[in-house]
This record gives sequence, C-alpha cells and structure tokens, in this order.
Amino acid sequence: MAFSRVRLLPILLFAPLLPLPDMTAAMAGPVVLPHSAPIPETGNRPDGNAGEKPQPEPQTPPLPQPRPNGEESSQPAPPVDAPHPLAKPPAGATRQDEPKPARPLADPRSTVIAAEKMPEEELECRKRLNALGVRFEDRKAEQNAVAGCSLPYPLAIKSLGTSIDLAPEALMSCPMAEAAARFTKAVISPAARAQLGSPLKSIAQASAYVCRPRHNGRKMSEHAFGNALDIASFTLANGTVVEVGAALPQKQAEFLVAVRKAACGPFKTVLGPGSDADHARHLHFDLETRRNGGTFCQ
Ligand SMILES: [Zn+2]
Repeated sequence: MAFSRVRLLPILLFAPLLPLPDMTAAMAGPVVLPHSAPIPETGNRPDGNAGEKPQPEPQTPPLPQPRPNGEESSQPAPPVDAPHPLAKPPAGATRQDEPKPARPLADPRSTVIAAEKMPEEELECRKRLNALGVRFEDRKAEQNAVAGCSLPYPLAIKSLGTSIDLAPEALMSCPMAEAAARFTKAVISPAARAQLGSPLKSIAQASAYVCRPRHNGRKMSEHAFGNALDIASFTLANGTVVEVGAALPQKQAEFLVAVRKAACGPFKTVLGPGSDADHARHLHFDLETRRNGGTFCQ
C-alpha cells in the first residue's frame, strides 16, 4: 500500500480542488487516506482479466482449499468477508463502499475455445454415444472466460440410452454424457428392474451446464464445464416416480441408495440429500479429476 500512499499524497495537497466530502478534516489532521479515494475499476477491464488482479488490502485473502473437497462444499462454507459474486449489495451501500467480490479461483479450462476442426477424441466419443443409443445434437460452443466457464464442444443430450429419455434435454460435454449413459445402462436400469420390478423410462435432470461457481464461491463448479449432471428423479415404465429427497417407500429408498453408492467411482464426485442443503433434492454426479484418481462421495 506504500505505493498507493505516495500516489495519493499529491492528491491530498490539491484536495480543495477535489469534490471530497470530508476535506477539512483530512487537511487539518495527520495524513489520512480519504475514504472515498478513487479506486481503479477491476471489473470491466477490456482485456477480460476481470477481478483476477490481487485486490487491495483484502480482509481475508481467499486461499485455495487444499482439502479434497466435493463439488459444492459439503461442509458449511467458512465465513467470507466479501459477498457471493452474484449477491446484490446491501441496501444503501454506495459504490465506493462496496467490498470487492471474492472471485473463484481461475480454472485453466475456462480459456479453452473450440478448434475449427473438432478433435478426434470428441468425434470418437460421439461414435460411442451412438453405439449406446444416446440421442444428442451438437450445439454452439459456450465460452465465458471472464466468468470462468467454457464448454467448447457441447452436446444437447435427449436420452441416456435407446429408450431412456433425459428430460428436459441437457447441455454437457461428451465425456459426461458417455459416463451418464454407461452408468444408466450398467447400474440404474438393472437396479430399477431388480429392485422395483419395472424398467427405467426416463431421468429428470435438474441442471447440467451452468456457468457458475461452487456454492462456497471458491472454485468454479464442474457444471461450468459441462462436466456435471444433477438428477432430480427417475421414472419407471410402470409410472412410478422415484424422487430424490422425498419421503419414499422403503424399496424406492433402497434403490436410490444403491444407485448413489454405485455412482462413486464411475463419477468422481457424488453428492445428494444429507451432503448439504444444496443437494437435498437431487443427486450431483461429476467427473472432476483429482490427484491419484480419487473420488469424493458423501
Ligand atoms: Zn450439481
């Protein structure tokens, strides 16, 4: 801050020329930095590096969390001085009084943009989806480097197998769609038949690609890369709807427990009711890569 102080001194010397509200006090006493000194804007930089510069005098530096934490922290978020990036300022706050919003850590994936020619691995992945009976359409790349999101080769997924709809259709990466389709075929469908006596007909999703940080605000969510799927309910051919987080008959509850348990491995993060308040009504599956191929399932 010494640098800022030096730069501000000439401003104080010419203070009468400036429209500062409390100038007499500032001139009479020892040098006091005016509360309303102009602060360079970091939120609208034309180079797109919004908010990634170090912030002046952070009360609590937002340190990266080394713990193998889940997608959206299963623990209550630690107190953070700055509000959530999407939070509205409290009523009556002036522009100068606004604390700088805490930014999630930049994720290198957010700068990936679509190549002119689709990479071979994406084409191969689409062939495997076709073989699995997945109905899908290619969609336009999603990219927002300022917000920290990117999905260069999105697919709108309409089914997770020949006769298993995904409703409403969901935007995600091909690897995520493949993992979801394989898991549906290997685990969910057989479990529905064996435990509930009816084939799986459709899966209702609550969200897939969404450009947002995790709920604790410290990192971007896997949803921001099309690498996650939230499932709200399973509908069987006989009309039974197994709703995640609802009070369920025992067999349906056991079906959900079996699905959730088996998901840990094929998916690298598995969260749901009991993990935290944010996952009380859906199962969250994602493919976040962790050191040593670890999983976070709770
Ligand atoms: Zn989720």
